[in-house]
Amino acid sequence: MSRAAALALLPALLAPLPGPAAAMPASARAPGEGAATAPDSRAGALAADLAALRAADHRLLAIGWRLVTGNAPYCEQTWPSIGLLLQDTAAFAEPAAVSAALGIEGPVAVQAVAPGSPAAAAGLAPGDEIVAIGDLPVAAIEAAPARDWRRLARLHEAIERALVRDGSVALTLRDGTVLDLAGVPACRSRFEVIAGKRAVADGRRVIVGRDFPAFGYDEEELAAVVAHELAHNLLAHRVWLDSRGRKRRDVRLSEREADRLIPWLLANAGYDPRAGVRFMQRWGPRHGGGLFRKRTHDGWDERVEAIEAEAALLDRLAAAPGAADWSRHFRRDTTSGGGGIYAAASADSSSR
Ligand SMILES: [Zn+2]
Repeated sequence: MSRAAALALLPALLAPLPGPAAAMPASARAPGEGAATAPDSRAGALAADLAALRAADHRLLAIGWRLVTGNAPYCEQTWPSIGLLLQDTAAFAEPAAVSAALGIEGPVAVQAVAPGSPAAAAGLAPGDEIVAIGDLPVAAIEAAPARDWRRLARLHEAIERALVRDGSVALTLRDGTVLDLAGVPACRSRFEVIAGKRAVADGRRVIVGRDFPAFGYDEEELAAVVAHELAHNLLAHRVWLDSRGRKRRDVRLSEREADRLIPWLLANAGYDPRAGVRFMQRWGPRHGGGLFRKRTHDGWDERVEAIEAEAALLDRLAAAPGAADWSRHFRRDTTSGGGGIYAAASADSSSR
């Protein structure tokens, strides 16, 4: 994708969503607003807030990485990935305070590294400052004084473009070290933590609010939620729904299908395929009166049954090689016609 094309996408990508912890609670208020709060405690609150955001980013990236790499053999669209998430102080309300809290000189640093990824193997760690991506210096990209997400988006795009073009990307650190990282195949989806408490998929990204209740659940149950959202992207539900006018019945079908794919995605990532059942049993009784009572979703008990049925199917297939090959064995609800999962895709999908 050309830079112009990539940039043209940005407003659409960024517009509907709030920035990360634009949150910055009392700590990010203008001087005077929190007059009763001493500077030390403001800095302490900001540091705690940044640490919490980093922890959430790490959790989501670690789970997402396992899902997208474990399922890469079955995804229609893959790209090389290195398992790295960056952070740009310009995206925050008070960039200088964030720089001070993080102890970094420049605006851009590593936010999270997926365990087992090429970024981790190269020794990258949160807080490492990045000054250039390929031949693109971070300083060459302008950013507004505050609350500007565009540079961070461009940097991630630059990494993705280099990986797609060359299979690798060169990262220059503050001390002049240049790391050349080769990507490994991953299903094509990004993962982002933002402010709020919802989890959504927009076709390209899985976006989870930092206050999403399942962040309080164990890793496998959180992975089940992430798998549900990722399923929406991998099964191209947004495109399908848009093409048919987003009828309520279709939305319900897509939700059921995303639920049913959960055990497959979990199994290929090395998680318990029934973690989705456990998640729904924990989540349903507490939250079933809200989102899940809508007629766009089945009742949570029906969702448990649908997920359990897929897990049972996986049990039966488990003896065969490629057991969790959902590109061949998963029954689609949202596309018509026979054949594999990508019946509408080109013939080369049969080679996957
Ligand atoms: Zn959904």
